Amino acid sequence: MSATIAIAGAGLAGRLFAWALAGAGHRVQVFDARPGPEPQFDGHGAAAFTAAGMLSPLAELEKAQAPIASAGWRSLALWPAIVHRMSPGHPVGLQLHGSLLLSQRSDAGAAQRVLDRLQQPGLEAFPKPQPLEPQALAALEPALRRSPGLLAWLLPGEGLIHPLEAMAALQADTPGCAWHWSQPVDRCEAGWLLLDDGRRIDADWVIDCRGLGAKAQLPELRGVRGEVVALDAPGHGLSRSVRLLHPRHRVYLVPRTADQLLIGASEVESEDRSPVSLQSAVELMAAAHSVMPQLAEARITRLDRNLRPAFPDHRPRLHHEPGLLRLNGMYRHGWLLAPALVDQLLKDSGLGALPHTP
Ligand SMILES: Cc1cc2nc3c(=O)[nH]c(=O)nc-3n(C[C@H](O)[C@H](O)[C@H](O)COP(=O)(O)OP(=O)(O)OC[C@H]3O[C@@H](n4cnc5c(N)ncnc54)[C@H](O)[C@@H]3O)c2cc1C
Repeated sequence: MSATIAIAGAGLAGRLFAWALAGAGHRVQVFDARPGPEPQFDGHGAAAFTAAGMLSPLAELEKAQAPIASAGWRSLALWPAIVHRMSPGHPVGLQLHGSLLLSQRSDAGAAQRVLDRLQQPGLEAFPKPQPLEPQALAALEPALRRSPGLLAWLLPGEGLIHPLEAMAALQADTPGCAWHWSQPVDRCEAGWLLLDDGRRIDADWVIDCRGLGAKAQLPELRGVRGEVVALDAPGHGLSRSVRLLHPRHRVYLVPRTADQLLIGASEVESEDRSPVSLQSAVELMAAAHSVMPQLAEARITRLDRNLRPAFPDHRPRLHHEPGLLRLNGMYRHGWLLAPALVDQLLKDSGLGALPHTP
């Protein structure tokens, strides 16, 4: 039976819920604080636009626990079915042929400590890091040939999604959904939400996906600042994401298109949304350059920053009661986790499920 649904927040979770529910024939409205669906790159708005889009259940175990990785593997099985349903006018880049971990030989001890964390109990059924000899690395990623002496591991099955394409497709390919921009939501309750302008919207189901914007109702939420550098690097040649294990900072290089790369990401305990700091920019770019010296002539097209919505335990919170769903606190794993968590809440509420087969 068709239900009325009011979603607060048109970020990653909000768009995924809207896409699934409108597609299943429900009457969906979405309210977002931002003036429109496109990213502004001003440090406000959806963290999903700033994200690298790495789908890394294994690599994220460096900081996360086994349940995050399990949910991540479930999402990796769901993304192809979602992307497959997007219209040809809204293609979404999705790659699932693994990612790479790299370390300088001098940092081998620190790298081994990280690798040990990737073998946590409870994950025996999932792929393991595979060490790569230099020739195997050069064959897999010729773009890394110019950095001899690197230690390398393939993380099989990990992947990448293009966040800007996915955000655009999820919004544009949701016919019948009413999108309300510049409409911040003050409260979400079972069966109704309250807009900042005092209007009350009644619905069979309210879904709270405001990210950090839900903090007034979820006071434990905090923002964790992350900064990225977007590069124009024609013919860079990289086909997988690459993480550099370094004792002081973690830096990754993510191929966006054949000519564009993203370098990420700082992790700073701060809710400061001001522009990228010189120190972060220098550290990110120096680490990327150490792995791919040929990036020296790349052009910096954007420096961006945003806040990851996180709870103290760094785990997402799913809330389900009649008339109200909440999904929040996806921290640094939103793209990795969102399909599995949205699917779970849709099933728990009886509202449906995400498609499981491409
Ligand atoms: C630098 C960086 C790199 C990242 N890299 C990755 C990665 O590689 N892989 C990965 O899996 N994850 C990554 N993430 C994390 C991921 O982006 C987040 O976990 C995810 O975006 C959270 O999704 P969300 O829908 O909860 O929140 P958001 O995407 O932040 O969306 C929240 C939405 O709510 C709206 N909103 C806020 N307040 C209100 C209000 N009062 N009323 C109405 N609307 C409101 C906002 O405008 C926004 O549209 C990264 C994040 C950052 C910052």
